Amino acid sequence: MATTSHTSVESRDGVSSLVGRWPLLGQRRSLVGYLCGLVTLDLAAILLLATFTHFRWSDLLTFAALMGCGAVCIEATRRLGMPAGVSRDLLSAWWLPVALLLPPVYALFAPIVLQFLLQLRVRATVLYRRVGSTAAIGLAGCTASVIFHELVPDPSALSSGRGSPIAAAVAAAMIFALLNTSLIAIAAHTADPDIRWREVLWDRESFLLDVVELCLGVTVAIACGLNLALLVLTLPPVVLLQRSLLHAQLQAAARTDPKTGLLNAAAWQREADTEIVRARRTGETLALLLIDIDHFKRVNDTHGHLLGDQVLINVAATLRSQLRDYDVVGRFGGEEFVVLLPRADINEARMVAERLRCRISRMAVPADDCMITVTVSTGVAIMSIHGDDLIELLAAADLALYRAKELGRDRICIPIVQPPRPSSEDTPT
Ligand code: GH3
Ligand code: MG
Ligand code: MG
Repeated sequence: MATTSHTSVESRDGVSSLVGRWPLLGQRRSLVGYLCGLVTLDLAAILLLATFTHFRWSDLLTFAALMGCGAVCIEATRRLGMPAGVSRDLLSAWWLPVALLLPPVYALFAPIVLQFLLQLRVRATVLYRRVGSTAAIGLAGCTASVIFHELVPDPSALSSGRGSPIAAAVAAAMIFALLNTSLIAIAAHTADPDIRWREVLWDRESFLLDVVELCLGVTVAIACGLNLALLVLTLPPVVLLQRSLLHAQLQAAARTDPKTGLLNAAAWQREADTEIVRARRTGETLALLLIDIDHFKRVNDTHGHLLGDQVLINVAATLRSQLRDYDVVGRFGGEEFVVLLPRADINEARMVAERLRCRISRMAVPADDCMITVTVSTGVAIMSIHGDDLIELLAAADLALYRAKELGRDRICIPIVQPPRPSSEDTPT
């Protein structure tokens, strides 16, 4: 699954629309069933609620004004582009007021309008993802709306300044965020039951964004309830926030390898250089691991590139889960990964490399009729022993990796002496 936003920056789209978090449809047939169920429920709710809703001109005007603001927001940030995969936006600033101020059926219509605009004007993503997100946001918004209207029968009370309607609005907005994220997380889990719930629900960053969206949505709803014209005052700050949010996401995307969510080669080199300068200044040790999947071409040739990609994603996840937060992990190229271990000496580097080798060899990716397993070879280089800067360390680790391949793969090699010396010799461990 793309996903999502997190160490790995994944693509999410929309309030939570989380469009990019939708898994690949081909991954599980059960996902198709889940998606059809979601859309059918959405359509049934539209039909049912439309029959019982008394459509008033004032409501239609409020709906049009809020959708207009959403459209301005989309147009104002369109030129910035949208990072592939995940992106978050602040569109709930507009559809939360729809859910709070208008009858529940409008909450089902709002995402249809804005997601259609996103698809048309920003990014033409795979249609089923867009439809799935629209249904998820619609159903979450509608539920929040029904609950709010039960608690506060007259929504204009929200702008009276009294505490209880505002508390009810906050509760409804929380239910909206909870439901929307859960509906998408269930889709991701249906497609890939091995995925951890933690990965598809919230991390700190997405939780903070949900809180910001909640605050914006409730504030805009209060302003809008006071006077529709106040939307003119709320629009610029929301657009500005939306632009800075996108900017931050684009910056993160530029550092990240989109397939694995690890640092890309350029970003890894920048971070590794900084760590090396720090280690030289403080006199601390530091180790570099160059990890290459063995016979990866065979995986592609036997199972196809899509499953090959899945292996790369799993190897990256295993690396991330086995390392400390301050270790610098990147995808160096194709099926080659690179890890910088600050403060690690030769013994610790050997131990970490061995642990990674073991974990990766135990990892299994399900294919049609078998489980795909892979092994890795690793070259290790230690600061001050095998090199004094990044280039020297990479060259030493590369030589050691070459040796590990020569000796039969699925092993770790550490050069004994500095590579530039003619008498250098590598020891397999
Ligand atoms: P060795 O044990 O010597 O490393 O053999 P190998 O097959 O792993 O190495 P080789 O360099 O011959 O092949 C690497 C393969 O990795 C070839 C290339 O198609 C594949 N590859 C590189 N990037 C990607 C990717 O992003 N996705 C997939 N599926 N395959 C990739
Ligand atoms: Mg290889
Ligand atoms: Mg290679």
